[in-house]
Formats: sequence, C-alpha cells, structure tokens
Amino acid sequence: MMPVSDSKAWRCTICGYIHRGPEPPDGCPVCGAPSEAFELDVAESQPVATTSPRRWRCLNCSYVHNGPEAPDVCPICGSPADCFESIGETVSDTAGAGAVEKVVIIGAGVAGVAAAEAARNASQDTHVTLLSKERSLPYYRLNLTRYLAGDLTQEDLPIQPESWYSERGIDLHRGVEICEFDTETKQVRARSDQSFAFDRLVLTVGAHPFTPAFTGAYREGVTTLRTVEDADQILDMGVSGMRCVCIGGGLLGLETAAALARRGADVMLLEGHGWLLPRQLNATAGGLLTGVVRQAGIELRNGARTKEIVGDERVRGVQLEDETVLPADLVVIATGVRSNSYLARMVGLEVNRGIVVDNLLRTSHPDIFAAGDVAEHRGIVYGT
Ligand SMILES: Cc1cc2nc3c(=O)[nH]c(=O)nc-3n(C[C@H](O)[C@H](O)[C@H](O)COP(=O)(O)OP(=O)(O)OC[C@H]3O[C@@H](n4cnc5c(N)ncnc54)[C@H](O)[C@@H]3O)c2cc1C
Repeated sequence: MMPVSDSKAWRCTICGYIHRGPEPPDGCPVCGAPSEAFELDVAESQPVATTSPRRWRCLNCSYVHNGPEAPDVCPICGSPADCFESIGETVSDTAGAGAVEKVVIIGAGVAGVAAAEAARNASQDTHVTLLSKERSLPYYRLNLTRYLAGDLTQEDLPIQPESWYSERGIDLHRGVEICEFDTETKQVRARSDQSFAFDRLVLTVGAHPFTPAFTGAYREGVTTLRTVEDADQILDMGVSGMRCVCIGGGLLGLETAAALARRGADVMLLEGHGWLLPRQLNATAGGLLTGVVRQAGIELRNGARTKEIVGDERVRGVQLEDETVLPADLVVIATGVRSNSYLARMVGLEVNRGIVVDNLLRTSHPDIFAAGDVAEHRGIVYGT
C-alpha cells in the first residue's frame, strides 16, 4: 500500500497561501497575517502520497525542491521550511522518471558554466547537460589576449578541469553544435543529429564578432579574435616580425594590438573616430591613452576608415578611404560583437538586439532562459 503523509493543509484566509503541517504557522510567510488567520483546508488536507516527490518553491528566491517535504532550509537563500509552498501534484511511480528535471544549457562560455553550476546547486536530482560547440574545455574568453601575448599557456585557460564537471554530475558535451530546438517536444538537436530532451533550456550561446562588409575580408590572413582556435590560428602564422593591422580601437582592438606587439609584431592600430575608446573616453583622455599606446610600440592612426582589404589569396594590405594602402601580413578585425540570437529567432522567442529576458533571465517562453552576451535585459545587451 502506498504510504501517506498525515500533514494537514492550512489556508491563509487573507492571501490564500497553503501551509502544510500538523498546526498552522506562527505567521503567514506571504502576507504576514497572524496564525489565527489560517483555517484548515479540507480539500487540500487529503492524504498525500509520499512514494514520489512533490515540488516545493521557496517564496523568497523561487528555488524548487523535489521531495516529500520542504527542505529545512533553502540551500540558495537560507529561508526556513515554512517559506516553501507546494507547487506540484504528487507524481505516480510510473511517471517518477519524469519528475527529475532535465536542464539543458547551450553554450559553455562563462555564462553557461555558471548556469550549470547554479542548476546543480539548486538541485542534486536535476540532470544537467552542458553543450559546447567548442572542443576545448570551457575557458574565460577575456584571457585570450593574455594567451595571445604569451602570458598564459593553453593549460592555464580552462575555468575548471574536466573532473570538476564529472564530479558534479554535469554532463559536458564538447564539439557539439546545436542547430535547432523545439519548444513543443522540448528537444534540442545537434548538427551531428544527436538530440537532448529538456524541461528547462538555458541559452548561453554568447556573441560573434561583427565584421563590416569590407571588400576582401575573406582573404587568408584576415581574422577576428573570439575563440582559442582564432588565437591559435594567429599564433600559427608566426606573428613575430609580421606586419599586423588591427582594425578597431575599442577595448578588444587595443588589447589585441598590445598582445601582438608583445609577440614582436609590427603593429598598426586603426581607429575610425578621432581618438581611442570614443565610447568610453573624451578627446583629452583619448589623447593621453594615445601616448601610452605609442609607448607600447604600437603605431596608431585615428580617423582611419577602412575601404578595402587588398591582396590576392592572402592579404597584402589595408586600403583606407583616403586611398592610403597600409601593408599587412595579418589583419585582425575588432569592430564589435553581435548576439547569437538565431536559435531563439527560429522558434519565435522575443528577440531585439539580444534575446529579451526578464529579471529572472526568463525569455518569452516560460521554460527557456538566456544569460550572458546573448541576453538583453531592459534594453541593454551587456556583452555588446
Ligand atoms: C579577446 C577577448 C577579451 C575580452 N576581454 C574582456 C574583458 O576584459 N572584460 C570583460 O568583461 N569582457 C571581456 N570580453 C568579453 C567576454 O569574454 C564576454 O562578455 C563573455 O565571454 C560572454 O560570455 P558568454 O558565456 O555569454 O558567451 P561566450 O563566451 O561567447 O560563450 C558562448 C559559447 O556558446 C557556444 N555556442 C554558440 N552557439 C552554439 C551552438 N549553436 N551550439 C553549441 N554551442 C554554441 C560558443 O561557441 C561559445 O563557446 C572579452 C572577449 C574577448 C573575445
């Protein structure tokens, strides 16, 4: 026979909150009404099967706990057991497997790894799958310029060793590119045709470099810097003694130019505006920065607008709108990034410049979340 819980259900007559236990609570955790405001709810007091888990939501932080009883303390925010409300029907034994939520995270940059860790911390029962298009272990992208400069080795890059994922039961799949997902069947499909079922999906697919439509941008030796593969490709060219042109005097362009100069390249940095970091600095501060950049051995051209990247199969130079041609063996384009919103667009999620999310990072679909460079919160795409 199925064991039952003998707990009673008490309804707050002010706000409707249901408390389960032999006695009403001292006070309502939702509206603050005193104990006397609770009455026994006969319908809700039906015996509750306890062979299968119930779901409990923390009223304070929305953490969901699976189990016959609410936890003593919320592992996320520390709220006590009476701050949990029951949100799920009991699940029959045959449906028990479905009670374990499957969280699938697409994209294993810093946002994806943080999401996987948070999902695991929120529930030990949840099956957490982290899918990465890149083959390398997840790494902090911001370290790529230090790697390019030679300050870090490839071994220094991973955020965590491989064992960290297996020890936490985070199912990390590398080299898996997701090409679509279905919000009805709740399946994610990879280009390799593998598929992954989800109850909750987290999109942490980041951003890609934006390359203006320069003629000749396809030539060998023209690149961007977003992945460790990009950095390796640049390093494989030799760099030392090469003539490198970096297009874009924003933060990434500056850091890339400095890294290449540290490797012994002959670097020219092109900024289309009148001074460096025009979005962050005024002209005076930009002028001060120019001095620092030149001291680092980088040649700088302000007000330099690229017209064309010239050469044959390989790049030979950069032609400016004033027709000057700057010789180049390597051109790195650092002209901003754009959110990878295509997967979300394909299924009709609300997308503006990024995937639109609310304060809980929930997209326009209740079971799909987005975070990091791909997300747009209150009109701001932080990564761009
Ligand atoms: C060289 C460099 C230096 C930077 N320096 C700084 C800095 O100093 N300070 C700072 O705040 N920020 C810096 N940034 C920006 C920072 O790295 C990003 O804001 C951050 O990486 C965003 O993290 P994310 O997890 O949202 O996205 P990403 O790091 O872009 O990760 C997204 C991951 O999803 C994967 N992916 C995409 N599509 C799919 C798919 N269909 N299937 C499977 N996987 C997919 C991508 O391959 C990628 O691995 C720098 C960036 C670069 C490139």
